[in-house]
Amino acid sequence: MEKITIGDFKKMFNQAYTDIKQREDEFSQLDAVIGDGDHGTAIVQAMQSAVEAIDKGAEFKQMLNDAGFNVMLQTSGSTSTLMGGFLLGMSDHSTGEELNIDQIKALFKGGLEGVQKQTKAQPGDKTMMDALQPAVEAIVNSESADIRTIMESAANAALEGAKATVGMKANFGRARNYGEKSIGYADSGASSWACMFQAFSKSL
Ligand SMILES: [Mg+2]
Repeated sequence: MEKITIGDFKKMFNQAYTDIKQREDEFSQLDAVIGDGDHGTAIVQAMQSAVEAIDKGAEFKQMLNDAGFNVMLQTSGSTSTLMGGFLLGMSDHSTGEELNIDQIKALFKGGLEGVQKQTKAQPGDKTMMDALQPAVEAIVNSESADIRTIMESAANAALEGAKATVGMKANFGRARNYGEKSIGYADSGASSWACMFQAFSKSL
């Protein structure tokens, strides 16, 4: 697979929405360990708003811009801000109706930069960044000429990153107050974003 079309991209996001919705309770329960237990609801609502706009899209830049704004207008809280930043960052680095491998690398790199504009969290802080950053690095650094292989390595990197949060102490935001209590459970955001990258890979 050397290109992804708008249609492929719609499938990727619809699969992510379906898979995240299926694990909604799990993500909320993980969030309840060191937070307010709303992450499942928040990520499902953000994905629903994203997919609503993506399904209407005909061209990458406008579609991702509409999706980012739809998420931020319809939902609130940190999950909304981060998902909005991801989509707007991808919009800034995309064009046209299909993407080749170099364009896909630029798209996801832009998405990560969009999230980095919204949070100072670094890998190791036990946040969604522990899944997102390794996933994007896997895409950018891949030498494969096959998009399926590239997205599979992103899914694996995101999953590894999310698993690694089990042993981490929360170091960011309100969750930081829970200190040692946060060890032993995966971060809810890292888990849901890893689920998203697994779904992207599965859909192709
Ligand atoms: Mg929460």
